Amino acid sequence: METLSRAELDALQVQRLRRSVVRSMQAPIYRDGAFAGKLDPETITSIDDIRRLPFTTKDDLRANGPFAYLTVPLSEIVRIHSSSGTTGTAVSIFHTSDDLANWTELVARCMAAVGLSKEDVFQNIAGYGLFTGGLGFHYGSELLGMTTIPAGPGNSNRHIQLMQTFGTTVAHLMPSYALSLMRNFEALGVDPKTDTKLHTLFLGAEPHSEETRLKIEEFYGAKAYNSYGLTEMNGPGLSFECPARDGMHIWEDQFVVELIDPDGDQPVAEGEVGELVYTTLARVGMPIFRYRSRDLAAFIAGPCGCGRSHRRITRLMGRVDDMIIYKGVNIYPIQIEKVLSGYSGITDNFLIVLENDQKGERITVEIDTEDRQLTTECAESDRLRKSLIEALRSEILVTVRIEFRQVAGDDALPRMKPKRIDDRRLK
Ligand SMILES: [Zn+2]
Repeated sequence: METLSRAELDALQVQRLRRSVVRSMQAPIYRDGAFAGKLDPETITSIDDIRRLPFTTKDDLRANGPFAYLTVPLSEIVRIHSSSGTTGTAVSIFHTSDDLANWTELVARCMAAVGLSKEDVFQNIAGYGLFTGGLGFHYGSELLGMTTIPAGPGNSNRHIQLMQTFGTTVAHLMPSYALSLMRNFEALGVDPKTDTKLHTLFLGAEPHSEETRLKIEEFYGAKAYNSYGLTEMNGPGLSFECPARDGMHIWEDQFVVELIDPDGDQPVAEGEVGELVYTTLARVGMPIFRYRSRDLAAFIAGPCGCGRSHRRITRLMGRVDDMIIYKGVNIYPIQIEKVLSGYSGITDNFLIVLENDQKGERITVEIDTEDRQLTTECAESDRLRKSLIEALRSEILVTVRIEFRQVAGDDALPRMKPKRIDDRRLK
C-alpha cells in the first residue's frame, strides 16, 4: 500500500471516492443537503472530479451537528472524539469499529515506517480522552505490538522515572513539552543520552521549527519525527515523516488531500502554500468531503527517497486563523480582540508574546494605548490591568500578563495589519 505506483493510487482513490459518495447518501446532510443532485458516483472517473463536490467547513460541522453526517445508526458507532471547543461548540467525530481499525492501522503504519517494532517500549505523553493524540497513538502502538505505557500528560519527573523503570525506547510528546522536560532531566541529573534507552521521539500537535527539532534530538540523543493530524481526519496517522525526513507523507489510500487558495475555492499552483483540504476515503460512520482544515502547507514535488509514493507536504506554515496553543488550550487572537474592544482608553492593537524559559511558559498581551498614564505604575493602570486579566481569563481560560505600550506622537506604531503573535517559545 505504501509503495503503490501513482496510477495505482489514483485508481484506488477513484474507486474509494465512488464508494464513499454512495455510502454518504445514507447521511441526511448529503442526501438532503450539500450533495443533493450534485454528484452521480457513476460519473466520477478521475480524482479531479472531487472538485465538483462542495467544501465542508468547521462551521458546517458545528451548524449541522454530527448526527447529520452519520451514515449508520448510533448503535453502530463505538467511539466519539471531539476537537477543542474553545471558540464555540466542539466538533465531534464519530467512529464505527471499522473506522477505528482503519485509523489504528494508519498509526501503526507510521510507526513501522520509522523502524519501530514489537521490541520497542512506547511511552505516550499525550492527553487521553476526547483529544485524539492519546488513544490514537495508543492503539497504533499496541497493534504494532509495542509495549505501551499510557503515561498521559502531567508530572514531569514521573515521566523520567517511567522511562528509566521500563526502558522506554520511543516517546510521543509535544515539542514545547520536550523542551520543558529538558529542565527536569537536568534537575534530576539524568542524561537521556546515557541514562535512558530512548532512540525515537514523535513530535506532534504543534508546529515547530527545524532548529527546535535539532535541539531536541541533540539533548535526547534520539531521532525526532513530525506527526500531524486533525480530529476531523481521525487525528494522528493522517500524515507522518518517513526516515528520509523530507516532508510528511499523507496516506492517500485513506485521504484525498488538496491545496486550495485560503481566500478562494481554486487549487494553488504546484509548490505554493495553500490551505490543506481533506476528504476521507475509508471512513464509514461519518464521511467528510473536502474539509477546509485552515492549516497552511505546500506540496513537495517528486519522489521521496524512502520509496513511498504517497504525496508529501511541508511542515505546517501556520493556521489560516492564527491559532495559538498555550498549555494545551487553543487561543485565537480574535478572542483577545473581542475583549479589548469592550474597553476605552486602549486600542485594539496588541501583540501576544509567548515565552518559555527558566521562568516557565507564559503569555503576555502587549496592548497599545495613547494614554501615557497607563504605561506608568499607578492606581489607574493597575485597576485596568486587573480587569483585563479577569476578562481575558473568562474568555480564553488562561491567565495572561498585561503590558501597556504607548503609541501616541512619534512613537506611533504602524496601524496597518499589526503583527499579533510573537511566539518565542520554540526559538
Ligand atoms: Zn518518504
